[in-house]
Amino acid sequence: MIKAVRGTRDLLPPETALWNFVESAARDVFRAYNFQEIRTPIFEETALFARGVGEETDIVSKEMYTWEDRGRAASDKGQSLTLRPEATAGIVRAYIEHKLADRGLNKLYCIGPMFRRERPQKGRYRQFYQIDAEIIGPASAGSESPARDAELLEMLATLLDRLGMTDWKLQLNSVGCPNDRTQFNQALRQALEPVKDKMCADCQRRALTNPLRVFDCKVPEDQPIIETLPRINQFLDEACRTHFEAVQAILKKVGVPFSLNDRLVRGLAYYTRTAFEFTHGALGAQNAILGGGRYDGLSEALGGPPAPGIGFAIGEDRLVMSLEEKTSAESVSRKPDAYIAPMAGMNGDAARLARALRRHDLVIELGDDSFRLKKSFEAATRAGAKYILIVGEDEVKADAFALKNLRTGEQISVPRGDLARRIQG
Ligand code: AMP
Repeated sequence: MIKAVRGTRDLLPPETALWNFVESAARDVFRAYNFQEIRTPIFEETALFARGVGEETDIVSKEMYTWEDRGRAASDKGQSLTLRPEATAGIVRAYIEHKLADRGLNKLYCIGPMFRRERPQKGRYRQFYQIDAEIIGPASAGSESPARDAELLEMLATLLDRLGMTDWKLQLNSVGCPNDRTQFNQALRQALEPVKDKMCADCQRRALTNPLRVFDCKVPEDQPIIETLPRINQFLDEACRTHFEAVQAILKKVGVPFSLNDRLVRGLAYYTRTAFEFTHGALGAQNAILGGGRYDGLSEALGGPPAPGIGFAIGEDRLVMSLEEKTSAESVSRKPDAYIAPMAGMNGDAARLARALRRHDLVIELGDDSFRLKKSFEAATRAGAKYILIVGEDEVKADAFALKNLRTGEQISVPRGDLARRIQG
């Protein structure tokens, strides 16, 4: 038997109702903040991620699904393509390609699958889903303003509250600008030099390639060493410090609680200034439900115009998982309002009635005229229908139908024209 590939999974009903619940809440909330949807391709040129995410990140160096595409002629050299491991690079590519800068400030969101070859575990998959939103535009449109950072964070708090997730925590940091980072990296390398040999293999590698990533280390024995390392906030220049303070002031004013975490540096190379993460109590080790930050130099790194931006990616798999603690999929899925049971030879009349009722936004399950009445009742009960509606020759002649409430057992005859209202009520 062929099974789903390791690290991928089927999302099945009724759980998919929770996914729809999350996505439609996200769409509603985003609309209130004047965000619009963008859909970018699932695969892109490999170079986009190498440049946009960063060669030395774990994502690019070891987690991407990359292949060489065949050229048109057998002799053509193929193009290197990659399944998108995250959404921001593709969105910024589209921003540049379609000259979205001409529209001023762009507020864009995107929902879809991402691919990373990580070791699968609970809450970590090789195909997973992200709900991603970005604010990007020329600085003249205000895209650099701390007001945008705060707006994005407040929007996230609103979305999580709307979903009924009370137990979230927002952690905030500033990773400064490239200038701050150069100095910080230097200081970090220096501080790591005498101690790195006592650290885990990953940290020894990070100390050489990307010292910032040492802060992601979860190995308990390394923690006392990491505690002694310098922190990025000691290296922020005046402009970055003021920016960060302004973000915090607005959050306080609008009442979004947060805590500062000076170890939060995040994995992607292009982050500048504000970096953040929301965690949720229910999730255990993989407790980050979303992360994001500013990326003021990304557009230029991809060959575009200066376009400061800030964005986030919600891990939808994890969001749904923490939601399941409280909200059952059943409670957000819609069961049939009525099951129509056609008597022998009555499939056509039953279909006609179903068509009319479905146009009243009712959920109708349609049976089959080969079923005996007993089997129809069983099917209606299994489907969770509220009513069963019997369509026989007598009913069609009288233009009134037997409608039975499957919860109370009450049965009445209802004229065709009153059926929709009766079932809705
Ligand atoms: P990142 O793009 O790495 O900043 O991740 C943003 C969010 O996506 C994380 O907070 C996770 O919730 C989610 N995420 C990242 N990688 C995975 C994965 N392999 N499986 C499931 N969720 C993931």
